[in-house]
Formats: sequence, C-alpha cells, structure tokens
Amino acid sequence: MTSFQNELGECVWVRPQNAGDNEFVVPFGARVIRTEKARTLIANDEGKQFWVPAEDVMKAMHITSQQGVDDMITLGDLQEYAILRNLEMRYAKQLIYTYTGSMLIALNPYQVLPIYTNREIAKYRGKKISELPPHIFAISDNAFQQLKREHMNQCIVISGESGAGKTESTKLILQYLAAISGKHAWIEQQIIEANPILEAFGNAKTVRNDNSSRFGKYIEIRFTDADTIQGANIEQYLLEKSRIVAQSRDERNYHIFYSMLAGLSDAELARLELLDRSSTKYHYLSQGGCHELQGKSDAKDYADIRAAMKVLSFGAEEVWSIFSLLAAILHLGNMYFKATVVHNMDATEANDIVSLQRVASLLGVTKQALANALTYKTIFVHGERVVTSLSREMVIEGRDAFVKSLYGAIFVRIVERINATINTKDKSSKPLNTIGVLDIFGFENFADNSFEQLCINYANENLQQFFVRHIFKMEQAEYEQESIKWQHIDFQDNQEILDLIGMKSVNIMSLIDEESKFPKGTDNTLLEKLHVQHGNRSIYVKPKSNQAALFGIRHYAGVVMYNPNGFLEKNRDSFSMDLLEMIKKSKNKYLKDIFPIQLPYDTMKKQLTLSVKFRNSLDLLMRTLSAAHPFFIRCIKPNEDKKSNLFDRELCVRQLRYSGMMETARIRHAGYPIRHSYKDFVERYRLLLPKLGPTDTIDCRQVTEQICKKLLPATADYQFGRQKVFLKDVDDTYLEKERARI
Ligand code: ATP
Ligand code: MG
Repeated sequence: MTSFQNELGECVWVRPQNAGDNEFVVPFGARVIRTEKARTLIANDEGKQFWVPAEDVMKAMHITSQQGVDDMITLGDLQEYAILRNLEMRYAKQLIYTYTGSMLIALNPYQVLPIYTNREIAKYRGKKISELPPHIFAISDNAFQQLKREHMNQCIVISGESGAGKTESTKLILQYLAAISGKHAWIEQQIIEANPILEAFGNAKTVRNDNSSRFGKYIEIRFTDADTIQGANIEQYLLEKSRIVAQSRDERNYHIFYSMLAGLSDAELARLELLDRSSTKYHYLSQGGCHELQGKSDAKDYADIRAAMKVLSFGAEEVWSIFSLLAAILHLGNMYFKATVVHNMDATEANDIVSLQRVASLLGVTKQALANALTYKTIFVHGERVVTSLSREMVIEGRDAFVKSLYGAIFVRIVERINATINTKDKSSKPLNTIGVLDIFGFENFADNSFEQLCINYANENLQQFFVRHIFKMEQAEYEQESIKWQHIDFQDNQEILDLIGMKSVNIMSLIDEESKFPKGTDNTLLEKLHVQHGNRSIYVKPKSNQAALFGIRHYAGVVMYNPNGFLEKNRDSFSMDLLEMIKKSKNKYLKDIFPIQLPYDTMKKQLTLSVKFRNSLDLLMRTLSAAHPFFIRCIKPNEDKKSNLFDRELCVRQLRYSGMMETARIRHAGYPIRHSYKDFVERYRLLLPKLGPTDTIDCRQVTEQICKKLLPATADYQFGRQKVFLKDVDDTYLEKERARI
C-alpha cells in the first residue's frame, strides 16, 4: 500500500519510466531528493528512491495535489494523472468517495466500512454538499433536498464497469431514502425487499463479480408532499438471456436456480421431479463448472427470496407456478434427442420419454404436442401449411431459444408483479415528484463483442451525451452567474456516434432490423451493407484485413470491434412458432399469461425486434432523465482481484477514461479552469503584495485585481466575476511559483 511519505524536497510530476506504448501508464508524483545535471534522484509515493533522466521531471506539483482535495474540480492540475493520484491518496486512507464537481467518484473498498450506519445517515441529513466529507449519502440527501426545494424530479445516474459497485451504491441510496422518509411504513420495506428478488432472477456469478447484475434497472421513488415515500416503479433493461442456456468457464446461471435446488423441501422437489439437489446434475447449470460460491449460502438466499416474495405479496400459487417453469427449464436442458433420417431428410426423435413427460406436465401440454413442437417446423408456402423435420442441431437450437424466451418472460412478469405492489398510485392526488436511480451496465469492450455490447455501448453513448451536456450547461451557468464573458466554447459531443448507431436514417440499428426481416438476410450480408453504407465515415472502423468479418465503432471510450455473427438471430429475439402455438393450447394459465402476444403465424413479421424494443425503452429513459435534475456517480473498481487496499493504477486510469470524466476537465480547460473566491485568493497570495491590512478590513476584490495586474503579464487572460476570479492554468502556475519564492 502506498504510504505517501512526507519527505523533504520539492514535489514534482514525473513522466512514467518504461511505459512503452501502454497508454494507461501516466505520470506519477514524487519528491526530488537530489539533482544532477542530467539526472534527478526522486522518491516516489511509496518512499522508494531512484534516478530518472532530468528531462522526465515534468513540473512542480500544484499544492492541491500535494495535500489532496475532496473535490477534484479544485485541483490545480486538472489532469488525468492528478485525478488518479488524488484518488489513490484518498483510497490509502480509506476515503473511497471523492467529488468532481457535481459528480461523485466511488471506489469499491471490497471490505465492509463502518460508514453506512444510522449515525452516518443522521449526520448527512439536511447538510450542504460542501459541509461534510464526500459520501453517497450526501448525494442522496441532496437529491432529496432539491426535490423539495425545486419540486422537480431528480435522477441519480450510476455507472461503472462490472464489479465496480453500482448495485451496492443503488442499495445504499435506497437505504438512505427509506430511512429519511421517516414513515417507516410497509412501502419502504417493500421497496427494499424488491431487491433480493431482482437479484435472485437477474444476477449471477461471473468472472468479474460474484453478484453481477445481468440487466439494467431504473428505480423511481415517488415522494408525497409530506416528504414520505408514496410508491416506486422499476424499469428493467436487456436481461442477458444467453446465460440461461450456456455459461462461460467459472460462471454460473442465475442465482435463483441454485437457491431453489438448495432451499425447496424434499417434497416440493419431488413434485417438480427435480430428483437431485445437486446443480451438477443439470446441463443448464453446469457449463461453467462452478456451483458453489464462497461466502454465499444458496439455501439461506432461498429463505430470503421467499420472505421477500411474501413482503411483495406474491401468492403461493404464483410462486409455485414460477418454480414449476424453472423446473421445466432444467428438465428441458437435460432432455436428449436422437438424430435420424426420414425420407432422406435430417430428422430428430424426442425419445427421452422421462424428461418429455416431466416437461409436458409442468408446461400443461401433452407429451406428443411437446415432442412435435420441438422436432418439427411448420412453414407456409403460398398459403399452404408445410411441416418439415428438423435436424438434431436445429432442435437443440430451437429448444434453447424457447428456454431463453421463457425465462425472459418470467423475469419481465416478476418485475411487473413487483411494480403492481409498490407502484400504488393515489389516483386522486396530483403527480408527485420522484428520485430515480439508474443502475446500468457500463461501457463494454471485450475480446469478442456482440449485439448485446452494441446495445449496451449505445446506451452508454446516450448517457455520456446526457452527462457532457449537463456539465457544459453547469459551466455555462457559472460563467453567467458570475457575469464572465463566455467566449463561445467550441465543444463537440458525441452526437455523430449516436446518429451512426441509432438515430439518423440508415443507421446501424435500422440496417440490422432491415436485414433481420429480409428472408435472405444473413450476418454476412448485414456486414456488407454496413461497410457499404458507413465504410467511409471516420467514426466507423473497417477491419485492417478484409478477411476479418468485423466492424468497429469509434466510441467516446475507444474503438470497439463488433462481430456480427449471431446479430440477426439475437435481434429477432423469437422462438419457433410451433412452440408458441403449443403454449396457446397449454393448460398452464401462468405460462399462457406471460406470453401475451399471441400472434398468428403470418403476422410474425410485425413482431418488434430487440433493437426496436431496446431503443424504445432507452428513448423513454433518456426523456425521463432529461426532464430531471441529474446527479452522477461513477463507480471504480480498484483492482481485478476483489481485494481490499489494492490500487491498480492502470486499471483505474482506464476506468477514468471510459467514465468520460475527463470531459469535465476538457470543458473546464476550454474556459477558465482555476477559480478562487476573492477572499481565498487574497489569503493565498497576499504575500505577493506587501503591506496589506488584515483580510477582513480590505476590499478583497480590489486587492485581487491589484495582485493580478501587478504580477501577471499584460497579455494574461483572466476575468473578475461577481464573487470569484477566473484564471487560466499558466497564470495560476505563475502565481504559485512567485508565492513559493517568497
Ligand atoms: P455488475 O455490473 O457486475 O452488476 P456492480 O457495479 O453492480 O457490477 P456490485 O455488485 O455493486 O457491482 O459490487 C460488487 C461487489 O463489490 C459487491 O458484491 C461487494 O462485495 C463489493 N462492494 C461494492 N461496493 C461496496 C461498498 N460500498 N462497500 C463494501 N463493498 C462493496
Ligand atoms: Mg450490479
């Protein structure tokens, strides 16, 4: 752990040694121990001494970076490396929260810190942001105060990569709001208890996070005029469905399957014909080779989930229906199929009578109907019904598609059911103000990126624009408030990328849609069309080799190459019509109910694609956010090993860059990055103007003007606002140097 030892000697920034072309290695802070002509002996923050070439010592460190600051916007060097050092220095003291203007940076401590108690809640209640150290409760409280003062909706946008702490942050905000709502009523309990249910069905163990949310959510809490919580609504986005049928190495399926096997009674399991409690016996649960998690008891979770379902008033029958369908999924996964040939055509026999019987009875259909729907396909040729047999491979594909849709539908229904309980609107009263919390997947860039990453990154581009525009507006507001001449700052946001992916005509999403509906469309024809349509745009990246079947987008957070393989299938987001027809005839009411769109065969084309559904819900979200006053929380994962007290600088730099936080700095730098109130300025630089009286007896604005005019070059660019002086970096550096000389 870094010690940030106080040693003698000037603090400086030093260019990284041996960084090669690693763009995430940035300058570091050090103290000068000794200087020679060509080399300098420095001590880094760990106290380690070594020589560096003299030219690698970049510049003196601004005082703010030596002391550390609560709000990074006040850093003299508002540079990435200074932001990084400030975070690292604070993290070493277990200060995980830091502001950057209106944004809160939250470092995952990977340990339980005693900073979320009722005492802390009381401490932050009704305070100004600047009064107390940065904290997530301060943001929560501020949102609440603003809501009351302005009678305006508030939103808190939380982002960060997997495992950075978004979901934990969301829970802390809800905990705070429930506590200050003060009514201590049932509704608060219900909102809190919605979470274990959502996590059971929508979270899973991944390599990055043992409790990774595989969906996005926006929770809106509604407040009455009397400041108590009246109700809430949860919106969910894009559950990862592929996980239900396949898991990567060391990953699990959704928690609920394991909890169910561990927690149901023997009699209940027998009724579902789940004859083995061990998840290793189920194909759909064993592909990652990971079954149990350290520190997690699936049986205890099961009890918590059942208790939570009770609080959310799920009926016993309903709960049983859900578990029956989950059991059907597990049996479907274990079903085996035999490949045969009938009339020279590939065909498949569903001769696993035991599994067939189990699934059929759980789905409320006959064995025969199920076997047929799985192994045959009905198509219409010139209005004629033609039934063809399917190869074993196609049967398995069809089964998996069905299971994914089934689980997806259960998940959607569960969220609807939670909302039915917590979203109790008093129809007679006027619309109430809300605080919304967005816990959504951060920017993703993997070795292999698919349709999901495109959707996720498109959502992040939208959020990035929302963020940048907000920051820009705030800057503008400050200049106006201070009556500073605001030379129009030329700042380009990422509109062009949004247009390319989903907004302008013939955008990428619309091309995917078109190709999904086109009978002869394939992932390859899609790629060709994308290349032809967008190939010469600078933000569209063609692979270097013509061989690579990829396309790339220059996102705000870097280039991502997408592999179009499977795009059309994922976008169609459907399963066999034969299975859908089978469900229509099912005796299982719950099952019929969760598939509400009962389309006849030929209207299938009109069914909404995933890209349309996703864009619709994203548009709605963006409209909701834009109509609210925003707060931003950026969660940062300090290391990949889930360890406490370990700060991986490169990993953090990468996240800072992806967080878009540097835009704040860039916008600041385009104007006047350094601001001091007149009083602060005089207190800091009064030494430069001898013979001044005590600060409270003089006109600080006048003295500030005198200091600037006397010391700064005639060409210097600074301005005097109502309360503050606005300076450029160079002039601030100059004043600091002068001050140090005296
Ligand atoms: P994903 O995108 O995968 O859902 P996430 O950003 O939601 O990731 P979390 O699940 O919130 O990440 O956090 C991962 C883990 O980090 C938690 O299970 C917890 O162990 C730890 N953690 C996060 N925030 C805190 C905190 N404030 N205090 C203590 N531990 C935390
Ligand atoms: Mg999460």
